[in-house]
Amino acid sequence: MGYIELNVLNNQSNLAMGIDLGTTNSLAAVWKDGRPVIVHPEGEAASVPSVIHFPGEDKAPIVGRKGRDLAAASPERTLFSIKRLMGRQAAELGSELAMIPFPVKDGEDGVLRIQVDGKSFTPQELSALILNKVHDHGCRALEEEKPDRVVITVPAYFDDAQRQATRDSARLAGLDVLRIVNEPTAACLAYGLDQNKTGNIAVFDLGGGTFDISVLSIDDGVFKVLSTAGDTHLGGDDFDRVLVNLIVEGLKGQLSEEELSDPGFLTGARLAAERCKCALSSDPEAELHMVLASRGVTFHKTITRDELDELISPLIEKTIDCCRRALSDAGLKPEEVDEVVLVGGSTRVIAVRAAAENFFKRIPHTELNPDEVVALGAAVQAHILTGGSRDMLLLDVIPLSLGLETVGGAISKLVERNSTIPCSVTEGFTTYADNQTGIDFHIVQGEREMVSDCRSLAKFQLKGIPPMPAGMARVAVRFHVDADGVLTVSAREESTGVSTLVEVEPMSGLSDEEVERMLIASIENAAEDFETRRNADLNTEIGTMLTATERSLESVRAALDKETLDDIEAAISASRAATSSESPSGLQAVRDELERATLPLAALLMNNVAKSALSGKRLDEV
Ligand code: AMP
Repeated sequence: MGYIELNVLNNQSNLAMGIDLGTTNSLAAVWKDGRPVIVHPEGEAASVPSVIHFPGEDKAPIVGRKGRDLAAASPERTLFSIKRLMGRQAAELGSELAMIPFPVKDGEDGVLRIQVDGKSFTPQELSALILNKVHDHGCRALEEEKPDRVVITVPAYFDDAQRQATRDSARLAGLDVLRIVNEPTAACLAYGLDQNKTGNIAVFDLGGGTFDISVLSIDDGVFKVLSTAGDTHLGGDDFDRVLVNLIVEGLKGQLSEEELSDPGFLTGARLAAERCKCALSSDPEAELHMVLASRGVTFHKTITRDELDELISPLIEKTIDCCRRALSDAGLKPEEVDEVVLVGGSTRVIAVRAAAENFFKRIPHTELNPDEVVALGAAVQAHILTGGSRDMLLLDVIPLSLGLETVGGAISKLVERNSTIPCSVTEGFTTYADNQTGIDFHIVQGEREMVSDCRSLAKFQLKGIPPMPAGMARVAVRFHVDADGVLTVSAREESTGVSTLVEVEPMSGLSDEEVERMLIASIENAAEDFETRRNADLNTEIGTMLTATERSLESVRAALDKETLDDIEAAISASRAATSSESPSGLQAVRDELERATLPLAALLMNNVAKSALSGKRLDEV
């Protein structure tokens, strides 16, 4: 018998999709070209509204954006926020029931049923319609591969029933669930925080209708949820509501009570409020503007960011109360949290960012789009679970070191060449002069020791530091390089919380040849660079010592004997005479001499400090 050889094709795609199945919007992402990317058809929005409209007359439900657009005309046929019903029973729903425009009751199996047009649906079935829609939305952007293996995210507080309900939805949608992942864990994965060895992370997630704070610990790349807190009815919609109230109050003389509570009017007012709120995240003032053409009525008011901040401050305070609770449950103090990640559209509100930053005393991660972070993290997890290791990311490294100019033209490197991305590094800086109220930052790239030999990337200023003696200000500067190689540098003065942020693309305009040339130059000039750098550092150090010596000498001059005084003054003159043209060994000798000559001055100052600290105390109290 003859045999015919068959080539068996393995149809299993190695790609898996990450899905953020949200209360308001859902998103799909996949791993592509070494990084997670959101997938959506060209020309269409990335997110799919988690909304189902039932047109009636046995017509198929309309899911997503079109369904949401139909909601205004017939809200009684449109379902929102199905996620709130997942894995729950009617008795548990309480106020959520008011949001469901259809009759709801428990089935004999204990699973909730929603009656629509003579049929009944479980939340799992409805959620499956959304999953299908978002999966299809993502697949339409992918050329050949249609991954039916998925990772789906759920809130960290979801119990087993809610997680199982989510799994069942995916099964009904014909999808193979590789894993259900906690949303805050996904957010951490998107920021590459799994590469941190150990530490505590707070994920602050403020969306349109819900607020979640999760405290996680990480140990060797494994995340553990330590605590969660939040408010299932707090978010950007509440911020909109305070502006809607302004419109309603403003139109009270012109419209009747009935007109002011008309659902059509309120929808228009809510849209005007949201537009104004979003504009205030980038502009210091914006227009709150609404035209009611049918009644010939217009509302118009300019709102400043400060005004909005004041109106929403009680709401923001509620989020911070939850943070306090979550930290206390986790047994941690704010300063024991190493990283803070902001998630959700409402974390674009500047006052929300500032409140989180002030509470945790950390610059939070805001470099990624807060709407996309969770889906991106789900795609990272999907990639890892389909055999792609995080090590693939290791191929993406920073080709040239990134740093800041320090006093004297030297460079302090924060991110070393060959660091894997995404990555973050934070370092402390301080002021050089007394009463310095601003710091100029100069971001540079390269391997050489001096700024003049490196590539300048950007300059920015941190203003508003309160006047204080040199060296007292504590400024944390963070460099974050995201998976796309975009560098975000943020600086924050710890005592006042003033902060600033700048974004640059370190590699834009640099060819591989130029990178190579810069590396070779750093090797060829290594010895000379080292000497120049040492000179610059010694000059800076001598400068700081001179300022300190001269200042203290004035206060205790009378208490020093003539010989010591002459010795110090000779060392001061020698230090002043030494210039940057001195060799490092000459400068070192001048520095050491200044240190030796000022030892009696230092001893005297220490003595004075000790005396004033002990004054008024008996010996046995010491
Ligand atoms: P999410 O539930 O994460 O999609 O977040 C939606 C919420 O984010 C809504 O309340 C939006 O109004 C709000 N949002 C989106 N963009 C901005 C912005 N630029 N400034 C303030 N809030 C925003």
